[in-house]
Amino acid sequence: MVLVPTIGVLALQGDVREHMRALGACGVRTLAVRRPAELERVDGLVIPGGESTTMWKLARTFELLDPLRKRIEGGMPAYGSCAGMIMLADRILDGVEGQETIGGIDMLVRRNAFGRQVDSFESDVTLGGLETLGGPGAAEPAAPLRAVFIRAPWVESVGADVEVLGRAETGFAAGRIVAVRQGRLMATAFHPELTGDFRVHRYFADLVRGVTTPRVEQED
Ligand code: GLN
Repeated sequence: MVLVPTIGVLALQGDVREHMRALGACGVRTLAVRRPAELERVDGLVIPGGESTTMWKLARTFELLDPLRKRIEGGMPAYGSCAGMIMLADRILDGVEGQETIGGIDMLVRRNAFGRQVDSFESDVTLGGLETLGGPGAAEPAAPLRAVFIRAPWVESVGADVEVLGRAETGFAAGRIVAVRQGRLMATAFHPELTGDFRVHRYFADLVRGVTTPRVEQED
């Protein structure tokens, strides 16, 4: 039996619909998460791009901040894109006064790092771990991802347990860390939900399946 996981999208603010569509294309159930009761029902969570200061304030107002922290501490897989990357960072630079995050990934993220120079920026990014997933179409060989950055953060530094999945490859930001994974948590500074190339979502959906699907030992 194949278990179909339910992946939530934190729907306080930001590009929720685009992530729901991308996840839908990966064969999982989706649920917009605005309340603690909805958070309880999901096997994994996507935190979309948007504005992290607004997301933080709304998460406080909707009494979601602590439940989010608890579920992440409890091992729920989560993927944050752009503002979502900021929300998953243990430490941030250039936040507003008092800005809190959910945390979970041992990294220092600089808010609006790209945006200080340009509002929007594109670069190819070769993501470690996505090679086996092929291109946007069925049997295409793996190609770099076209990464769209919109007033995006980047990762200044990571702790020992954080795997760097990708760096910007071209332009003034070349070499900057823009995709990371720590166990069941992953984050990208860019917006894979906008390009029609859903390899990042497929990777995350597989991560969630790996956690939620009971492993059946083969006997021979
Ligand atoms: N600059 C935004 C923030 O601080 C992030 C931008 C985005 O998610 N596209 O949250």
